[in-house]
Amino acid sequence: MAHDLVIKNGTVIDGSGSPGFEADVAIDGEKITAIGKNLGSGKKEIDAKGHVVAPGFIDSHTHMDAFIVQYPNGNPVVNYGVTSIVIGDCGASCAPVPAKPEPRKVLVEYLRRVLDKYVDDKDWKWNTYAEYLNYIEGHIAVNCLPLMPHTPVRLTVMGEAAYEREAKPEELDAMKKMVREGMELGAIGFSTSPRGGPAIHAGTPSTFANHNEIVELANVAAEYNGCFQFNGFQMMLQPESGVPDMLKRIRGLQIGNEFRQRPGQKADAPKAIAYMEEAQKRGQQLFGVVIPYTHIRRFTINDCFFLNGLPTWEAIKNSSDLSSKLGDKEIRKKLEQERIAGAGKPEFPEWHSWDRMVFEHIEKPELKKLEGKNVAEIARLTEKAEVDAFFDTWLEDNLKSQCVYHGLANAHQDILAQMIQSETSLIGTDVGAHLDRFFWHGAPVRVLGYWSREKHLMSLEKAVHKVTGFPAEKLRLNRGLLREGMPADVTIFDADKIADLVSEKLPAVIDAQEVKRHPPGMKAVVVNGQTVVEDGSCNDVFPGKVRRQQLCV
Ligand SMILES: [Zn+2]
Repeated sequence: MAHDLVIKNGTVIDGSGSPGFEADVAIDGEKITAIGKNLGSGKKEIDAKGHVVAPGFIDSHTHMDAFIVQYPNGNPVVNYGVTSIVIGDCGASCAPVPAKPEPRKVLVEYLRRVLDKYVDDKDWKWNTYAEYLNYIEGHIAVNCLPLMPHTPVRLTVMGEAAYEREAKPEELDAMKKMVREGMELGAIGFSTSPRGGPAIHAGTPSTFANHNEIVELANVAAEYNGCFQFNGFQMMLQPESGVPDMLKRIRGLQIGNEFRQRPGQKADAPKAIAYMEEAQKRGQQLFGVVIPYTHIRRFTINDCFFLNGLPTWEAIKNSSDLSSKLGDKEIRKKLEQERIAGAGKPEFPEWHSWDRMVFEHIEKPELKKLEGKNVAEIARLTEKAEVDAFFDTWLEDNLKSQCVYHGLANAHQDILAQMIQSETSLIGTDVGAHLDRFFWHGAPVRVLGYWSREKHLMSLEKAVHKVTGFPAEKLRLNRGLLREGMPADVTIFDADKIADLVSEKLPAVIDAQEVKRHPPGMKAVVVNGQTVVEDGSCNDVFPGKVRRQQLCV
């Protein structure tokens, strides 16, 4: 009898970190049924000659909760070989939906701030968490690992009071009940953004919770072997925040978001690695999510964030005649002196160098030749000092240009490499949020192509392990390994060609075309036995599972 699918002639890298070997892989129904030679024919066959056959990649941090409704094929990550995504991160999701209009509005506004402006509750065809899971189940091509999100839970239970005060005992009981129901339905854990975390979460309902509330809710999830996901990773290194003590009271896996080198805090990343290693030795399962890119930020002249705090800049930045001020050589000289004097001081954004600033978009046709060039290059071309090249280009373009700063976070590649390599890190994309930084979705492939093949940070086998077997083991998934009897989540890619599509230029609009771009080198992606990606396009099949009971051991 023919198998349902046979992937022939490939090199199997099984996700465990052990060396690859030549073999065919047979799949029947949702499972891998044989790995070896001469497995016979398949009703469908994929020739993987010259390609690696590996487990599907696991994306440990996304905000695709609303994206998957818009893009049920799992774009933009399925194109890159991702077969399982965590959703409901950072205490933010589009379910449960609060019944009252005001709290509902607060939720939508929060999601628009944290995810992006595309979030629209007109698209929501559910109210309860159960209805949301029912809605996506059977309509999504990748597996979803949903977290029970603190903010919607709080808004649903407490209404307006969710963003005014701490919970009363009966409200905490009601939230615990809701988290328990979520876990029974299939959530993999509980997520939150606590007080004192990133500014973007300030004032959201979850930040009004005291640590006891968070511990109680997280430990309901822990009863089901569920995990705890939190934002505000840097507070882990600040005992006065209370977060280290809070974490010690939470049982089960703990995943901190935003494990990154923050500007001006170069030493924090190695400190965080040491802290997590110590915690793990004590038995605390503490991990941080790394987005394996140097972060970039767009800016316009009104948002020249790297000059913020310099007295001269503060005095002129909001003035109505900014152009004439920027043309003033004395002002420029002062700005440059203050910038040099302020570099390295914690109160200013970290300064790297002029070559980290790129004129991404220039309006005037006669200046177009400078588009895509960094300030150091423009200075050489125009034979000017860098500071003059910078401000003159703005002025000549009537302040209409758009720039990009490379190195807002993870600026130091050597430290980023340590973070990626560390056994304390999980790789995530943050997809579905922050569309102004739309290129992180290539993260798993970035580890394989850029970090493994080009930078030789780790072997291909180790790189595959980093995005498959390793996160699967931590998240207790029944995935991440190519073994007989395992669910058939598989990627087939050319290890010499696989690459993310990051360029210096960020897309101007995030539309369907942009979201559906396929990277070079990805031949096929299989989820639960069904081929969801093949030779650069998605098939309209939706085999993704959405419940812990099916996805976890
Ligand atoms: Zn997040």
